[in-house]
Amino acid sequence: MALDRSTIWPYRNGEPGEFYYSRYGHPTGVEAERELGELDGGHALLFSSGAGATTALVLALLSPGDTIALAEGAYYGTAVTFRALERWGLRVVEFDQTGPPPTDVQLVWLEAPSNPFLTMPDLEVAAAHPARVVVDATVATPIHLRPLEHGADFVLHSATKYLAGHDDALLGAVVCKREDDAERLKEFRGRTGIVAAPDPCFLLLRGLKTLQLRVRRQTDSATELARRLEGHPNVQTVRYPGIGGLISFDVADEEEARRVETSIRVIKNATSLGGVDSVLEARARWEGDRVPPGLLRLSVGLEDVEALWNDLSQALGR
Ligand code: PLP
Repeated sequence: MALDRSTIWPYRNGEPGEFYYSRYGHPTGVEAERELGELDGGHALLFSSGAGATTALVLALLSPGDTIALAEGAYYGTAVTFRALERWGLRVVEFDQTGPPPTDVQLVWLEAPSNPFLTMPDLEVAAAHPARVVVDATVATPIHLRPLEHGADFVLHSATKYLAGHDDALLGAVVCKREDDAERLKEFRGRTGIVAAPDPCFLLLRGLKTLQLRVRRQTDSATELARRLEGHPNVQTVRYPGIGGLISFDVADEEEARRVETSIRVIKNATSLGGVDSVLEARARWEGDRVPPGLLRLSVGLEDVEALWNDLSQALGR
């Protein structure tokens, strides 16, 4: 697919064609949405970032006074986004996603698996709730989980992570089960301008070509590293749900976590996840006492697993 950066396309016989102004749609975006929609089994829409997709979805779907039941321990930025929207009358309650969502809420927001606690939601129980259900499946990816097949109404992705996969494209996606929801959200997106530009959509298309290979390899390596971390004397809790490339584990305290993150050599000390390069960071710097002080989050990339383990074990100390 050629990258088309145009913002306008000529009318034909005095009438706009499928593409006429890029805020309403552009060929690279539509092609990327078609491919992602196929992977997740729904109607995909792309946004300027995962947080942009989150904002667009709740503003398009909910009204002032409505309440979101948010999985506790989900990506902390999602709660930050919702709190920023409280000024407009949105309410948020947190709940344990391994059990049933609270009653009297208008939207249930799950994360599969949650970042960085790595719990899996009980999708069947949530699907039985009368409210619409969103699953942020950024970490699972459609390779491991297709939430629309388990009763979810919407899948959300930070496509910045595994889907694009190379830490060079900021992008978000919502995949809708119902076509009328997708139409409504698309109209809202065009009006508010929370849109994805052609370049990151092109990088997403490229990333999707290797998604399955990358995620399989990252899952294999993460499974092995989680097993070895479990046996390390300086590591306390290890969290790994058995799918995907994300692990979190605890060392003694925040000072020790800072020491470990600055001692790694192959793995990079950086934020984010889902890229081809492994990254590690102490999460307390961002999340404060929401996480154990010694929690380290490791996103496993495509490097040789022995090289990753040697790096981790030299940083942890024996
Ligand atoms: N959802 C999850 C699970 C994330 O980890 C992130 C980002 O870290 C987001 C959503 C937000 O995505 P973005 O950074 O693309 O706005």
